[in-house]
Amino acid sequence: MRNVNCPLCGDNFKEGPGYLVEGARQYPRQRKWWPSRFLICSGCYEFGYDPETGTLRADDMRELDGARWSRVVGRGEQMPPVACAACGRMFIRNADPLLQRPTCSPTCATDLTRTRNGNQGSGQGCAGCGNPITTGRADSRYCSPACRQKAYRQRQSHP
Ligand SMILES: [Zn+2]
Ligand SMILES: [Zn+2]
Ligand SMILES: [Zn+2]
Repeated sequence: MRNVNCPLCGDNFKEGPGYLVEGARQYPRQRKWWPSRFLICSGCYEFGYDPETGTLRADDMRELDGARWSRVVGRGEQMPPVACAACGRMFIRNADPLLQRPTCSPTCATDLTRTRNGNQGSGQGCAGCGNPITTGRADSRYCSPACRQKAYRQRQSHP
């Protein structure tokens, strides 16, 4: 599980699942706010959340150390805690059929994309040497560039 802290107060979610919120981050020595999804702790959530409107109460806007947030991700009802699709950390989100496989942090989202695009190989035997393919894209046919080259050369010499 990735080590994550609440960007508003530094809490490390030992008290229970955090809330996945839509917000923005501002990085040191930058003026721009970057839209981002991140986890906040239940204390920060309860402090700033208005259950009636489903948004942040303007008068107690939480904006600390380069993080601000507006609402829990998703559009429907609040759901029971779910696990991050990449690292397994539990968090609370709203129901939304369009929100598929949400992750606890942008880093986990990157991990997930990388896994989806491969880096686990196909699990099949290499078309060159027969060893199982355990890295690279999910549709790769060769275990290594060397095997790919060898197969290519064989095709050239035996048309
Ligand atoms: Zn917090
Ligand atoms: Zn995660
Ligand atoms: Zn091979």
